[in-house]
Amino acid sequence: MEQALEALRTAVDEVDVVLLDLSLPDSQGLETYRAVHAQCPSVPILVLSGLNDESIALKAVNEGAQDFLRKSRVDGELLPRAIRYGMERNRLLEQVRQLAIADELTGLMNRRGFLMLAEHQRNLADRKGTSMALVYLDIDHFKLINDQFGHDAGDRALRELAAVLLHTFRRSDVVARLGGDEFVVLMADVNGDGLNIVLDRVRKNLAALNQDSRFPWRLAVSLGVVQYDAAHPVTLEMLMASADQAMYRAKEATRMAS
Ligand code: GH3
Ligand code: MG
Repeated sequence: MEQALEALRTAVDEVDVVLLDLSLPDSQGLETYRAVHAQCPSVPILVLSGLNDESIALKAVNEGAQDFLRKSRVDGELLPRAIRYGMERNRLLEQVRQLAIADELTGLMNRRGFLMLAEHQRNLADRKGTSMALVYLDIDHFKLINDQFGHDAGDRALRELAAVLLHTFRRSDVVARLGGDEFVVLMADVNGDGLNIVLDRVRKNLAALNQDSRFPWRLAVSLGVVQYDAAHPVTLEMLMASADQAMYRAKEATRMAS
């Protein structure tokens, strides 16, 4: 074990895969897996199990080992295949991790996820000639929530708004947090009437949240909406910029009024 860890420390870049026997002279059981995995978290590990430690081998798989192989069954045909599959699966997992399209705080899409899905949706709208709308939202005076009640309260408020948006829009709509207190929703197949109904629902659900809230703060948002017409295609970036501007104008208007 000591030698293996040393080899991983000095030359981890040269290691494609680890075949790991859990019962070593200087390390036993799950600890063996954990120590090696900690040393090379992105290298695929195949665990070799004897008769007595099969359940431990399974636990190692639950903790992220690619596979476990019974020592008594391994042969020249099975082993290379298991290695190849293990490496391939690991590579895919790494790719998915790097895509990282979710916003950690709210569980919504992040900007990257939004751009991916929205671009796909826009192509669809172009091809089918359907309509689409983009809603841009920014919380009003969000800094005050942070300042008065602390950053954790601010985080909680962001999660509350995310939950409201999720149950206000259709499952097929793309709801995302772009960053900070900015959110965006892409609605597919929606006309002017439908749009007004949904925007009313946003306001109603937000009012209900504020009314029932156990928390001392109240949430208000400024909304900017633009419709996409496949007959006059524009890029997603342009669409987002116009929705952002519309939101900003709405914010200015509330500021003047208050
Ligand atoms: P406005 O009405 O003009 O929108 O004012 P605002 O106070 O909402 O200010 P603005 O939208 O410009 O800034 C948002 C603030 O959100 C800035 C930053 O302190 C805070 N913020 C950004 N990301 C996070 C986060 O993840 N958690 C928390 N708690 N606060 C954040
Ligand atoms: Mg704001």
